[in-house]
Amino acid sequence: MRVTFLGTSDGHTSATRGHSGILLQTPESSLLLDCGYNVPRYLLSHKLNPDVPEAVWISHLHNDHIGQFGMLIQSLWLRARSAPLHIFAPAATIPFLRDSLEKCLLFSELLGFSLEWHPVRPGRAVKIGVFQLDAVPTRHLANLASFFKKKYPRTSFDCYGVAVTYRKQRYVYSADIEKPQDLRPAFKQPVHALFCELSHFPERELFKELAAHSVRNLLLTHYPDHLQNKEAFLKALAREEKYRGKVVLMRDEKTVSL
Ligand SMILES: [Zn+2]
Repeated sequence: MRVTFLGTSDGHTSATRGHSGILLQTPESSLLLDCGYNVPRYLLSHKLNPDVPEAVWISHLHNDHIGQFGMLIQSLWLRARSAPLHIFAPAATIPFLRDSLEKCLLFSELLGFSLEWHPVRPGRAVKIGVFQLDAVPTRHLANLASFFKKKYPRTSFDCYGVAVTYRKQRYVYSADIEKPQDLRPAFKQPVHALFCELSHFPERELFKELAAHSVRNLLLTHYPDHLQNKEAFLKALAREEKYRGKVVLMRDEKTVSL
């Protein structure tokens, strides 16, 4: 599997890096994890077929994760995509996402390809092409919900990472988390690669947690500017906490084969 980290910045604007987006590509299929990055430009400049990606996973509605979603749909329409686009998102976000496309004049009759909406239901694995997807609920928005859920009942406070199984290997995307323990359910089986954010908790906590689990490769993304070029520091922290997997601090548009 080829994994391209499109944008690696966290929710703050970075002068040098873009927001969230990870593109998984296999010979058979492709899956985009979140769409905060300028994905349409990346797909065009790398001459990828407009039927890429086959599916999109939307973890939650913070703009650093969905800011370019509407533009992705517009771009795929104007590039004459024909294959259905499968969209996985928290159930309560789907009415908003559909409505925002309509309000932005992206009517289903115009598009030339269908949008297949799949409400994410934790505990229920879904198959899309060669991938099996298992939602990993996180507590990223739990604190915000405690203050605002009553006043804003139509806002979704759900956030779902995902465990992707491909050819019997498991790849876990953290999305945004409250703390590394959020990911424990995903660690019940061995993880070939974890794509983990690094902005909502002390870095050391992640390595401490991972030391107790089987996670072969750790690819770090969604991190603040002060951690840029700090891969050696992070690897040293990992060693101190006895995490023995491979640690890589990702850069924008860097591709790895896993
Ligand atoms: Zn967020």
